[in-house]
Amino acid sequence: MTVLITGGGGFIGSHLVDRLLAETEAEILVLDNFSTGDVANLAHVESDRLEVRTGDVRDAEVVAEAVAEADRIYHLAAAVGVQNVVDNPLKSLQVNLHGTENVLEAASEDGTPTFLASSSEIYGKSESLPFSESDDRVVGPTTVTRWGYTTAKATDEFLALSYHDEYDLPVVIGRYFNIVGPRQTGEYGMVIPTFVEQALSGEPLTVYGDGTQTRSFTHVTDAVTVTHQLLETPAAHGEVFNVGAPQPTAINDLADRVLELTGSESEIVHVPFEEAYSEDFEEPDHREPDVSKLESLLGWAPEADLDRILRDVIEAQADAPVDLEAVR
Ligand code: UDP
Repeated sequence: MTVLITGGGGFIGSHLVDRLLAETEAEILVLDNFSTGDVANLAHVESDRLEVRTGDVRDAEVVAEAVAEADRIYHLAAAVGVQNVVDNPLKSLQVNLHGTENVLEAASEDGTPTFLASSSEIYGKSESLPFSESDDRVVGPTTVTRWGYTTAKATDEFLALSYHDEYDLPVVIGRYFNIVGPRQTGEYGMVIPTFVEQALSGEPLTVYGDGTQTRSFTHVTDAVTVTHQLLETPAAHGEVFNVGAPQPTAINDLADRVLELTGSESEIVHVPFEEAYSEDFEEPDHREPDVSKLESLLGWAPEADLDRILRDVIEAQADAPVDLEAVR
C-alpha cells in the first residue's frame, strides 16, 4: 500500500510520516513544495519506505501523477499561519482552493480514500461555544484578509463533500484546532513556538491584544492519531469532525506557564492586534471544540494536556530536558 501525504514536509505532515512508518508497512510518498515545510522535518527518517517529491499542489499534473500511485491520501498541503495568510493572501487562496480541487479531482479517478485537513478557522468569530460541526459559521467581510482563509477552507469542505456525494469519493474532513508540538515554527505567527523561543532567549513574550482570548491547544501526536483513525474508518467518510483537545487556555495564562516551565525571566508585553498584524485585523476571541462526534465514533480522548505540550516544545527547542520539577 502506498500512502500519499501532501504537505508531508510540514509540521503535522512530518509527524504523520513518522507514525505511519512506525505503525504500518505502507510506502510513504510525500509531496511538498517546501515553502512552509522544511526538509529538516524529515531529515531524521532513515526508512527506504519514504519517498520525498518536491512539487506544488497547484500543479494539477504533478498532483495527478502522485495520486495515481496512492492507495490512501492525506491532503495536508495548505497555506498555514495567520501571519502567513495575512502577508500572502493571493497565494494562500490559490494553494488552498486549487490545491485541494486538484487533489480531490485526481482522487476521484480511482475513488482513493482521502483525508482533508481543515481548520477551526471555519467557525470564524462565532461565539457559540463549544463549536460543534453543524454550527453556523460567522465570518466578516471580504475586505478583511483573514476571512479569505476561512472562506477558502470552507470551500474546500464543500468540494470534498460534493465529491463524496456525487462521485462516491471516500473523503473525511478533520477540522484541526491549534495543533502544536515539536517542529512547529514560530515563523508564521504560531503562538507556542514563538513564546517558547522568546522565553528561552530572554526576549519579551509578545501577547497580542489583552491576552484574554482563548485557544484549545492540541498535541500533534493526538491530532495524528485521529487523522489516521478517521481515514481508516469507513463510517467517518462523508463526514466532518472537530479534531482538538477541549482545554481552552487564555493567552495570558499561556505566557505565564511558558515562563514558569522555562524558568525564564523574560517580561510579558501586550501588543495591539493592529500592530501585530494589520490595521483592519479581526481576532476570534475564543475557540473550543465540541468533540462528542469524534468520541462517539472513535472513543477518542486527547492524551496530552497543556503542560505536556509545553514540555515537549520546550525540550525540542532547548535541545535539553526541561526542569520536570517545575511541571508538577
Ligand atoms: N498570539 C500572541 N502572540 C504571538 C502570536 C500569537 O498573543 O506572538 C495570539 C494570537 O493573537 C491568538 C493566539 O495567540 O490569539 C493563537 O495564535 P496562533 O497564530 O498560534 O493561532 P490562531 O488561533 O490565531 O490561528
